[in-house]
This record gives sequence, C-alpha cells and structure tokens, in this order.
Amino acid sequence: MYAKCILLLLLCLLLTSSLTARMRNGYAPELSIARECLQLLSQRLLFEPDMSERERRKIHTAIKKHADVIAMYELTQSLLLQFKAVSPKMYALMDALEDKRGRETDVYVRFVPEQKSPMKLSGTSFFRVSPTDTDASQSRFGKFTVAIDIWICDTSLNILAHELGHTSYIVPNLAAYLSYYGNIYRSPLTATHVGHSPTDASGRMAYSFGQQYLRDRRAYKSSMGTLPRVATVMKDVKRTIYESVESRFNDLIASSVSYE
Ligand SMILES: [Zn+2]
Repeated sequence: MYAKCILLLLLCLLLTSSLTARMRNGYAPELSIARECLQLLSQRLLFEPDMSERERRKIHTAIKKHADVIAMYELTQSLLLQFKAVSPKMYALMDALEDKRGRETDVYVRFVPEQKSPMKLSGTSFFRVSPTDTDASQSRFGKFTVAIDIWICDTSLNILAHELGHTSYIVPNLAAYLSYYGNIYRSPLTATHVGHSPTDASGRMAYSFGQQYLRDRRAYKSSMGTLPRVATVMKDVKRTIYESVESRFNDLIASSVSYE
C-alpha cells in the first residue's frame, strides 16, 4: 500500500507544472479536477475488489477522459514554452497586459483538437464586458481575463501570435473597440471578415504579431536549429502521459485483482 501511495504521489509530482506568468494554460482549472478524479478512480479500483466488469470498463473510459485533459494541458504547456523561447519579447508583452485602467489581465490559452472544437476558425479570442465596468475584459475564466482557443495544427503558434495581436489591442481599448465592432461588423458584407476591416486596428496588430512571430522563428532556427513540429510535440506528450497514467493504473488494477 505504501509503495502504491508513493507511486501515486510521484505521478502527481510528475504531472504538476505550471507557469507563474500571466500567460496562462487554459486547461489548468480542468487539470486539478482530472487529477482528483484519477485519484478517486484509483482508490475505487483498489478498494472495491467486487466491482463488476461493466463498472471496471466505465472506469477505464473515465481514466482515458481524464488522461486526455492532462495530455491537452501538457501539450498547451509545451507549446506556450516553445512560443516563449521563439518570441520572448512578444510573450513578455502579453505577460504584462493591462486594461485601460492599468489592471493586469490574464490571457488563458488552450490548444484544442480541431475535430473536437466547436469553433469554425483556427483561432478565436473571447472577450466579454461587464455592464458595470466596460473597461474590464472577462471570459469564462473570470474577470480580468481573455480566453484564446487555437486549433492543433502545423501553424498553431503562428495563429497564436495572430490572436495575441488582436488581444494586445482590444484589452486596453475594450469599451471603444466594442463600440467600433458593433458599428463596423453589423452588416452581412463586413461580418465575413470580422476583426479585419481595413480600419480595424486590432486586425492590423494581429497581422503585425503574426509577421513578427515568423521573423522570430526564422532567427531562432538559424541560431538554435529546427523546432519540433506541433504534431511531434503532441505525439510525444500523449505517449508520455498515456504511458505514465495508464501503466500506473494498469498496475493498480493488476494489484487489485491479485488482492482479490
Ligand atoms: Zn484575425
């Protein structure tokens, strides 16, 4: 039992990593729930030896679901670190993002599988405004936050740079931008290129950030060598997470069966 507890503790430590900056991993809130659930599931497998096969299969499915969350968290973490290594100035700029009244605003980023995403665009930034504080950006992560979702693809980090460009302009100009947005993108003609009307400063900033990222990436490659592709990072992360989570739970299942 002691060895099993140590094993679980090591697993939690292995999976514990977080950025301290204000560019945030959007899977962080789900991560703690996933870890708690994994712990509860392991306890059930250990202490309910009479569990039916049907129930065991349900637990396996649940384990896979929670492992997926952890894998997406780790993938996002790896890609944010890659972005920081390639474009440290852009990252630092977003890390110090403030609204019009000088309040720090967190940027929560998630890289999401395209097939599981409800988004029709490869990158989307989400802003909501409070009726009592039109300068405060809000999102599903709370007050003084922005949420950015990016499809997992070869150009994920370039798309992230683009969305950060939109965000860097909109957050300090939120109330004015939303008023502009309501006026400009009201008609069906302009609705097709939301964020990129010729007069939209956030759109110009988005293109500028995207181009800067490409320049930074070229400079990084020439001095540091080729960067791993997003697909490779995802494959490595998934393998590591699934192997560590599933093999440990398989060990626990085997132990539980022998105990039985
Ligand atoms: Zn855009």
